[in-house]
Amino acid sequence: MAGDDPHIHVKEKVAHGDAAARTMLAATFGLAGDLPSRVTTGCGLRVAYVMTSPRPDRVTCLACREHAHREHLRLAEEVERLSRMPGSVVSPAEGELAADWHRDLARRFSDVAE
Ligand SMILES: [Zn+2]
Repeated sequence: MAGDDPHIHVKEKVAHGDAAARTMLAATFGLAGDLPSRVTTGCGLRVAYVMTSPRPDRVTCLACREHAHREHLRLAEEVERLSRMPGSVVSPAEGELAADWHRDLARRFSDVAE
């Protein structure tokens, strides 16, 4: 199942379509939504879903760590920007919290020395 690639990768879309988002969607719309068996990674591979992780302490693929670092920094800015828009469902304070969370993850992904 894992093939001959021993590395743990991140999914290309680090904050979309993950298990948490699916759980939320399922709760909201009553959809079960099977997890994909294979996903595209941050380094451009197609690997089994079980060979990916959103956790900085698990991801061993260097290219994926760099990808996740960049993605989380980008998402931090995006969530801050969106939370400040008029009519946003997320308050600026909530946006700030989410941005902090993304920046913390970004920092941990950039910290390659184990
Ligand atoms: Zn990778």
